[in-house]
Amino acid sequence: MKAAVYLGKEQLPVQTVADPTLDDGEMLLAIDSCSVCGTDLRTYRHGDAKIKPPRILGHEFCGRVVESRAPDSPIKVGDRVVMYIVLVSGTDRYVEAGRANLTANRTTISYHHDGAFAPFMKVPALAVRQGNLFKATNDLPSDHLSVAEPLGCCMNAHSRLGIGLKDTVAVIGAGPIGIMHATLARLQGAQQVIVLDNNPRRLEMARAFDLDATVLVKPDGSHREEVARLTGGFGPDVVIVAVSAAAAQNDALEIAGKAGRVNFFAGLPKSAPTATLNVNTIHYKELEISGSYSEKKSDFQAAFALINSGRFPAGKIVTHTLPLARIEEAFGLMESGEALKVCIHPQL
Ligand SMILES: [Zn+2]
Repeated sequence: MKAAVYLGKEQLPVQTVADPTLDDGEMLLAIDSCSVCGTDLRTYRHGDAKIKPPRILGHEFCGRVVESRAPDSPIKVGDRVVMYIVLVSGTDRYVEAGRANLTANRTTISYHHDGAFAPFMKVPALAVRQGNLFKATNDLPSDHLSVAEPLGCCMNAHSRLGIGLKDTVAVIGAGPIGIMHATLARLQGAQQVIVLDNNPRRLEMARAFDLDATVLVKPDGSHREEVARLTGGFGPDVVIVAVSAAAAQNDALEIAGKAGRVNFFAGLPKSAPTATLNVNTIHYKELEISGSYSEKKSDFQAAFALINSGRFPAGKIVTHTLPLARIEEAFGLMESGEALKVCIHPQL
């Protein structure tokens, strides 16, 4: 079969690889859609020390079971499925607390196991046994279902932010992840949802979603006053950083209201992970800062259920689809801000 194989920085050729073959306990999926993640883009541009090439990337997918050597599984040949991509090989205090995203005993699809930028993907026996496959029970398009994985990562942050009716929320970053955060805030009843970005094109796309305001981030810092004005001078109760930039992290601390909750959803580039932040904002404003990494199985389940409910605008978040052979075009579309989510269709 032809797969997009990561060989190193800026090397993602679509090349012939051996068809996957199954051992006991495994399943084979025919991949209908795999959306391109910001981390795929980052791996392509900068490499990733955690990924040992050659490796087939792609971890946000929907596929059909075409072969099974797991007869005891409730998932059967013909089922259309999505997958929680964290595989847990042992237990510890994090696994026992339901936070398998934090355990050292984990491996991940597209990092340690081949992913879904290919017409077929093998599901490891451990994932089948742990119930990581979830069956689609309606006819929602595969592109929409593929978004369950990144939406689950957003759910992980929200499971600790506790956004509700009393909250005003600002999201820095109008990419697909920022839009997902803003939409989740709205669905949880936030009074006001504001999205900021330094790319006017992204803000234009963001206005297609149910937001109260969009704010252009400017080099002179005037966007900070704009957010203060929009929130009656108090600043937002919750600020989520969905761009990988220290300037955005600083903006979050500056614009947050007193006693605000700030989530650094996006990390910084692994090559430059330190930043100068005005930590006195945390002190004087009594801010609560949290991070967010990957997702718990409960987050994935919740994201999948929300997409299934039809109340989440997954169809508006997927703006482009491409055949596998044109996967590198997806990166340009994402970087320019022309696309939100790009879905790859490996069967084409
Ligand atoms: Zn992802």
